[in-house]
Amino acid sequence: MNATHDPRRRSFVAVPPDSHFPIQNLPFGVFSSAGREPARIGVAIGDQVLDLAVIEERGFFHEATGNAPVFNQPALNDFLALGPSAWMRVRGIISHLLNAETPTLRDDASLRAAALVPQADTRMYLPSQVGDYTDFYSSRDHATNVGTMLRGADNALMPNWLHLPVAYHGRASSLVVSGTPVRRPCGQTKPPNADAPVFGPSKSFDFELEVGVLVGPGNAMGEPVPVDRAAGHLFGLVLVNDWSARDIQAWEYQPLGPFLAKNFCTSLSPWVVTLEALEPFRRPAPPQDPVPLPYLRGAEDWTLDITLEAHLQTPGSAMPSRITATNFHHLYWTLAQQLAHHTVNGCPLRPGDLLASGTVSGPTPESRGCMLELTWRGAQPLTLPGGETRASLQDGDRLILTGWAEGDGYRIGFGEVSGEVLPARLADAH
Ligand code: CA
Repeated sequence: MNATHDPRRRSFVAVPPDSHFPIQNLPFGVFSSAGREPARIGVAIGDQVLDLAVIEERGFFHEATGNAPVFNQPALNDFLALGPSAWMRVRGIISHLLNAETPTLRDDASLRAAALVPQADTRMYLPSQVGDYTDFYSSRDHATNVGTMLRGADNALMPNWLHLPVAYHGRASSLVVSGTPVRRPCGQTKPPNADAPVFGPSKSFDFELEVGVLVGPGNAMGEPVPVDRAAGHLFGLVLVNDWSARDIQAWEYQPLGPFLAKNFCTSLSPWVVTLEALEPFRRPAPPQDPVPLPYLRGAEDWTLDITLEAHLQTPGSAMPSRITATNFHHLYWTLAQQLAHHTVNGCPLRPGDLLASGTVSGPTPESRGCMLELTWRGAQPLTLPGGETRASLQDGDRLILTGWAEGDGYRIGFGEVSGEVLPARLADAH
């Protein structure tokens, strides 16, 4: 750890105590605002955004990133490709500039006006141009619950599950940023007692509370990344809502896994919280039994202590209500193991690729990360504070995921990822 992690460091930009964006965080995102077009890269501080294109143009990053502009860009990919030493130097420069003790920006009113913009005046975009998106299935509690519902408790985990981080290839083309509505999909389903499948709007619409990691420098095709070098290829984390149509999934998924039940929309939070900012929240990874094969065994297996919550707001409720509280450290497979496994066959990853964790469920009923588990496949509908019940998401419902790591007097937060469910297009149902 370094001076950027010092819990006593304060910014001259006002940061309320419950803010997700104190000077210890400094998450990166892509934004635009009036007069700041096209979109460029900024860092959140309190309720402001520091426009890194302006800071870069003034030459502050020259030593760290070289001549080519990496922040006057509509995506983080070029910065991600630079790797951990450049990321660390840039974070150090930004933390120094925003430090209450540093006069450079603090005492220069014209530079402040040029470089700081209220978050309320910005529009946010996807943080990277994602070439490929992979969705893992790394929560043992989630896999056990889903397996129990589908196959019974005795066969809950498939024989491979404790030996490798199971995943499938998702669809980068349907990734959207927080705030984008999600339309209920139509598809083919087979009701339990029907002889033949039917077509129509999904009747079992769900969210999945996940955390995604953005890949930094990639690996050449044919060259695996060893598990102990995986961290050097991982930049930072975002919240992911992997919207799911359970009835479509149940009919289509065998034998090749999820397809149309998953690839119509996946929502990301706009601010990327760097692994460097999260260093104070590293924890030993959970024990693994059986011991995995050597290529998945790191010298030091770590995870992160990040509180994660899901909140649901129905059209009939004035406020969202919390329906899930869980933690990233419940995941069985680590970020490093996911990356090492993904590349062990020589599969090339590229800067900006997204690896999502899979639903993050904990061991208790309140810590389950999707409606499928929270309602036990609809058998135990949720009762919301206003008395409404939900077995699955209804049209007009808004689902919000949030998360943060709790420091001593500060929070390293992710902000949120939200989306409202729109009715299916009826024309699609015929
Ligand atoms: Ca998923």
